[in-house]
Amino acid sequence: MSGTLSVDPTQGARVSASGVAPHVAIVGAGIIGLSIAWRLVQRGCRVDVFDAGGPSQGRGCFAASRASAGLLAPGVEAEPTEDALHELCLRSLSLWPAFARELEGQSTIPLDFRSRGSLVIALTRDDVKKLEHTHSYHEALGTAQRWLTRAELGELEPNLEATALAARHLPNDRQVDPRAVLVALRDVLGAHGVAVHQRRVDAVALGGARPMIVTELGQLEADYIVVAAGAWSRSVGGIPDEWKPPVHPVKGQMLSVELPDSTPLLQHAVFTPRVYLVPRTSGRLLIGATVEDRGFEDGVTAGGLLHLLEGAWRAMPAVESARVVETWCGFRPGSRDDAPMIGHRDERLLFATGHYRNGILLAPATADAIAMTICDQAEPDWISAFAPARFDADFAGFRNIQVPAHAAL
Ligand SMILES: Cc1cc2nc3c(=O)[nH]c(=O)nc-3n(C[C@H](O)[C@H](O)[C@H](O)COP(=O)(O)OP(=O)(O)OC[C@H]3O[C@@H](n4cnc5c(N)ncnc54)[C@H](O)[C@@H]3O)c2cc1C
Repeated sequence: MSGTLSVDPTQGARVSASGVAPHVAIVGAGIIGLSIAWRLVQRGCRVDVFDAGGPSQGRGCFAASRASAGLLAPGVEAEPTEDALHELCLRSLSLWPAFARELEGQSTIPLDFRSRGSLVIALTRDDVKKLEHTHSYHEALGTAQRWLTRAELGELEPNLEATALAARHLPNDRQVDPRAVLVALRDVLGAHGVAVHQRRVDAVALGGARPMIVTELGQLEADYIVVAAGAWSRSVGGIPDEWKPPVHPVKGQMLSVELPDSTPLLQHAVFTPRVYLVPRTSGRLLIGATVEDRGFEDGVTAGGLLHLLEGAWRAMPAVESARVVETWCGFRPGSRDDAPMIGHRDERLLFATGHYRNGILLAPATADAIAMTICDQAEPDWISAFAPARFDADFAGFRNIQVPAHAAL
């Protein structure tokens, strides 16, 4: 693509009297940091992104975005206590088709964006009871869904007919290849002239008139700093203890397989009672994912693989003859209430972290929210439930933090 930067003047960032748009430094180049950078630069901001290249990554371990399955499936995992999060997930799901189209168009990198929906299957009578319960909860929520008998499921997915007793079909669910999304985002950011510095941010310095990014090679002043460092967000230096986001790593292991004749085993993403199965256009099938509280313990374990392979085999014995292509793990940024922290922590420091199991799904909405917060100087009301300050003992409620006009730059 061409390297020209085009900014819609009706959508541009507010500028100071001298015509200077805000300069934003972002800590973390996962899907959250890169998506925010893209939306900000489209609105005319100057953006620098810093990435440590993966602290605690190695031995088959990645940052969360690269490790993810790319399921965009809010209707599968919503819990009765997570109404606000479910709303945000639905909003972001609705943004994904345009986000993917625009990103594919600007980068020409195929994202394997699929709109076939997902299936949640029951393998035992107990599973059927649980699935019926979830189905009726989602009826009340108004989720688009259909109950499938074994025969109806067999028409959609013949390879599941022998094992599954019933299923929920969620036609609005989607999926994307997150690794392709990361490459595409870096590509479009490069074309906009945004630097993604392969450098760890040791600290943010918040004491001066403008905040600063501190790395071992030097410092960079900006108007705003956005911390989007995933599971590592707490360890960015310089954030006062009482502001540190309550984010912790939740390890997930996965593997991918392929059949010798490349016959796709499935057409839909399938959630079994123990694992999920995600077909890619390449013919590969992803099997995921474990959920483990083990800090930053890296490495794929035999126990993890056993859990995944056994879970997949129970639903679809045909995986037995599939060739293992890759195994890996990653660290989800878990938060205290399983919901993300999005928005101002103070006037110049913003958080976009703690997306836990939904960061790929939530990337478009998070990026829009941060771009609106900085460029329009007002947080959209649909992120008020995700205020980073909500865990403070003296948190007085959800409100917009007043930020100074950019004329003060
Ligand atoms: C196995 C697995 C499967 C998943 N499946 C799904 C799914 O199907 N759908 C879905 O929506 N979500 C899924 N998730 C969750 C999703 O991947 C995450 O919520 C999301 O990727 C978080 O993105 P992020 O950009 O916040 O963090 P990350 O992708 O972890 O990126 C954070 C970045 O910050 C950098 N960094 C850290 N510290 C510093 C520092 N001091 N200085 C500079 N850079 C720093 C790191 O190097 C890293 O690149 C899955 C996660 C895992 C692990």
